[in-house]
Amino acid sequence: MIIGIDLGGMSAKAALLAQGQLKGKSRVATSASASAEQTALSLAELALQVAEKANKSMDDVQAIGIGAPGVVNSAGGEVVSWTNFGWKNVPLAALVRKYTGKNVFVLNDANAAALGEARYGAGKRFSDSILLTLGTGIGSGVILNGKLFEGFRSAGTEMGHVVIRQDGERCTCGRRGCFERYASASALIRMTRDKMVSDPASAMWRYAASPDDADGRTVFLALKEGDAAAREVLEGYIAALGEGIANIVNAFRPQAVILGGGISAEGETLLVPLRKYVYPRLYVSAEYAPLEICCAALGNDAGLYGAAEYAFSRL
Ligand SMILES: [Zn+2]
Repeated sequence: MIIGIDLGGMSAKAALLAQGQLKGKSRVATSASASAEQTALSLAELALQVAEKANKSMDDVQAIGIGAPGVVNSAGGEVVSWTNFGWKNVPLAALVRKYTGKNVFVLNDANAAALGEARYGAGKRFSDSILLTLGTGIGSGVILNGKLFEGFRSAGTEMGHVVIRQDGERCTCGRRGCFERYASASALIRMTRDKMVSDPASAMWRYAASPDDADGRTVFLALKEGDAAAREVLEGYIAALGEGIANIVNAFRPQAVILGGGISAEGETLLVPLRKYVYPRLYVSAEYAPLEICCAALGNDAGLYGAAEYAFSRL
């Protein structure tokens, strides 16, 4: 049995993975004002809480896997940098091991989610899959031959920062025109707001009192009414998302691209036009190398599954 932990800026979640099931799911608040040492201690306490809740003792736990934000050196169990918490070279695995006496492994949280979806969720049937999580940015993880591919010093597969428009919008990474500037959930919301401003007759105004109130669902709600402005927003968004996906597929040629994040709840409304956009743009045809484009299945649990699975693979 392995405990998976999903460390975030507001809270850390954890659960015990046994026979493919998550048990004893628990959560603890996290804070940027706490030291790395204090955070590690609360993760250790969280692990204990999970074991108790699942009616197990820590003796039954073989290892702990932690999905952490930022740049992670998974081989060394270090968080190299996590800007929100001001972490630099935090030996997270060693700290949590000190308080639990367990083998502890750390990987990037987006990679953990990709591994979770690949083994237990939407990617189960495939040996090669890529998860793109559409949120504030775009989180990504690549599974090749059933294994997580992280690049040198686990510094690779940052798909959100592949440029799709040279000299485009400025990105938090310092470059311009990154994929996530056009295809994240934040980008869709920005496009929705811009369109509402330029089109006061749009049905989108019925679902958001002002452009500031628009969220990731606004465009989809108005689309159900056949709103032309909403259709235009979605077409622009699909084109950006599709360009990025075609690039990624041309590079790795997975069997599946899995979309996570709140927008993926729209399902086929999003997928049908996306497939139509992507398939004709692939260098090698989808007839020759079939490609599934689908939505994630595990929601917020993907990272828990993946963190535990990763620890298991490293034992
Ligand atoms: Zn960028």
